[in-house]
Amino acid sequence: MNSDHTQTIKTVQLAWEGNIPLSMHHEDYYFSLKSGLEETRYVYLKQNKLPERWLTHKAAPLHSPFTIVETGFGTGLNFLTAWQAWQNVDQSKRAFSFISIEKYPLTKDDLKRSLANWPELSDLSNALIEQYPYHAKGSHLLSFNHGKVKLLLIFGDVNHDLENHSFIADCWFLDGFTPSKNPSMWTDPLFNLMAKHSDGHTTFSSFTAAGSVRRGLANAGFEVQKTQGFGGKRDMIFGNFLQNTTLTADQNAKWSLPEPKTTSEPKHKDTQKSPTYDALIIGAGLAGITTAASLAEKGLNVAIVDQNNHTVGGASGQSQLALYIKLPTEKNKTSDFISHCTYFSQRFFNEMQKQNPNKIFWHKTGLLQLAWNEKEKIRHTKFLNNNLYPAKFVRGVSSSEVSKLSGIDIDCNGLWFENSGWLEPITFASTILTNPLITVLTKTKVNSFEWCEHNLIWNLNTKDENTSLPVALSSKYLVIANANDAKKFQQLEHLPTQAIKGQVSSLYSDKLKTAKTVLCGEGYLCPPINNWHHFGATFDLQYEHNKPTQAATLENIKSIQRWLPSWMTQHDDIAAITAKDNLTANAGIRCTTPDYMPIVGPAPIYNEMLSHFAALRKDAKSCEQRYGKYYPNLYLNIGHGSKGTVTTPIAAELISALITGSPNPFDASQSAMIAPARFIIRHLKQGRI
Ligand code: SAM
Repeated sequence: MNSDHTQTIKTVQLAWEGNIPLSMHHEDYYFSLKSGLEETRYVYLKQNKLPERWLTHKAAPLHSPFTIVETGFGTGLNFLTAWQAWQNVDQSKRAFSFISIEKYPLTKDDLKRSLANWPELSDLSNALIEQYPYHAKGSHLLSFNHGKVKLLLIFGDVNHDLENHSFIADCWFLDGFTPSKNPSMWTDPLFNLMAKHSDGHTTFSSFTAAGSVRRGLANAGFEVQKTQGFGGKRDMIFGNFLQNTTLTADQNAKWSLPEPKTTSEPKHKDTQKSPTYDALIIGAGLAGITTAASLAEKGLNVAIVDQNNHTVGGASGQSQLALYIKLPTEKNKTSDFISHCTYFSQRFFNEMQKQNPNKIFWHKTGLLQLAWNEKEKIRHTKFLNNNLYPAKFVRGVSSSEVSKLSGIDIDCNGLWFENSGWLEPITFASTILTNPLITVLTKTKVNSFEWCEHNLIWNLNTKDENTSLPVALSSKYLVIANANDAKKFQQLEHLPTQAIKGQVSSLYSDKLKTAKTVLCGEGYLCPPINNWHHFGATFDLQYEHNKPTQAATLENIKSIQRWLPSWMTQHDDIAAITAKDNLTANAGIRCTTPDYMPIVGPAPIYNEMLSHFAALRKDAKSCEQRYGKYYPNLYLNIGHGSKGTVTTPIAAELISALITGSPNPFDASQSAMIAPARFIIRHLKQGRI
């Protein structure tokens, strides 16, 4: 099968000269063993005036990181050297982001062997090796130092796959093999792309001083200077962006974003009141708490407001949440999107658990998806024949392996996700909310909110549910993460969300077999907690209340008897099981959307969008160069349905990226797939509104 049709990317074949890696593809060395580290320090750090530039603030946006963008990640030596230097700056005023793109990544073993050359970097190298992503195309956002250091590692080609990402580089590390050996990388499109992602502060440097590179950079608007090269090399180049070009970044789906601000200075600074928080988040489910954690990690002072008396109520409040999603059998935009989210979540929960070893919330038990009936068998065969994903992420297993992995005799093949598992949301919430920059305000109901143009803040109209007194809350940024209730706010009435009830059953038994992994068939069964087996869940569009029902309990039992008969046989007497008081249930209301994708991003102003994009009714291809009309600093993070563990951690990073300029975990077309304004645009094109 042509590798373009898979999610995986080819790794590089190396030859080794002692411990020095040589790329067989480009016939060039990655570094010199004698002086590789010093060369990086001289060529990339010194010529870009690092670490000096980390000692100064940048005015806006709030808490924006210092962003280095590199062409050619290779062994990660440049990243690690820059990270080490940043870490040694006592009082860095900016967080550290590194975006790097790599077309032919090293295998993990080759990465280990290459980095073993640099013992002084070993702590940082080990952290990188541990999180080194699957060889899957696209971007992988890695987080280190409790989120202060971010690495967006993009597996793809500099000339095709960087332009889809939104960022402004503070500096460029132009690496990549020497232009004579790798001419297809050093192109005018690359230099123009650099210009589109640079501003008046941007600098660059490169080990090469090839004439074509100097001319290309100069034509794209960079001032290029030559200086002495490292070691025996005659010269190298460095310089800065002159901002004399009129190029702006090509933006896919411009409608999904507000017009970039030309000035970020408040208008009436002297008379303005400060808000109570940098950001307020309405809703304390998985979407809200992960957003709070992500913003607080970037230094924002945040509060989560929820009408319930505890966090992770609602659909996030089950005892066990599986990290599970059914992947399409073909490669398409949806499979790219959800696999991308799943890679992120696996890394995220692992990393959070590692940082907080005293509280256990992430159980990496692995997850088996069973080919339990004819239809699933056909799906699994197709899935495996298409061979879309890295085997470390998912692979086919025989019925004997299924039985061995799960600890239950199961008579069918399966798909094995060895890095998945389940989350205990209440412990997870209490762990990630311990950041002192997060305040949790429960029993507080938000009735409405309005934008104050004078103070440039959102004022919330709230009520303390205990005292019935109003609570004064305001913030610069407001994130709506309260699922189905979002459309109760006047600004968001247009949202097409749909409530679906889900009930999970919990059965106490020391006789039933213990599942060692999460098992998924028609429903799912989690490994038991103290002999409590949790399984479910129902999907009820029509319901009268949000309490558990006997009918839903029966439905869950009948279902698991069908798809996992060796755990609960069809002969088991349902009446006897349900009559005992060792059966309980928990129901929650999911928030779903017409296209099953979450709603994450800036909140559109419905009426203004309608008039601004009216031409779409006649010509679906018009308005391509138009940005959307959005409320200032108002964001949505809802609609995660039953996929909260898969989509909320990465969605939180998207919200942070929009607010602080931290690396965006999605490319432009993925962001558009979940953009809140997509329904308005779609419905206009279809003439439905
Ligand atoms: N910066 C690296 C380090 O710190 O180890 C060394 C980079 S190595 C000299 C050059 C890298 O550029 C190689 O890993 C190569 O695969 C990558 N590369 C070459 N052409 C590329 C392209 N068109 N797009 C993305 N990466 C490319």
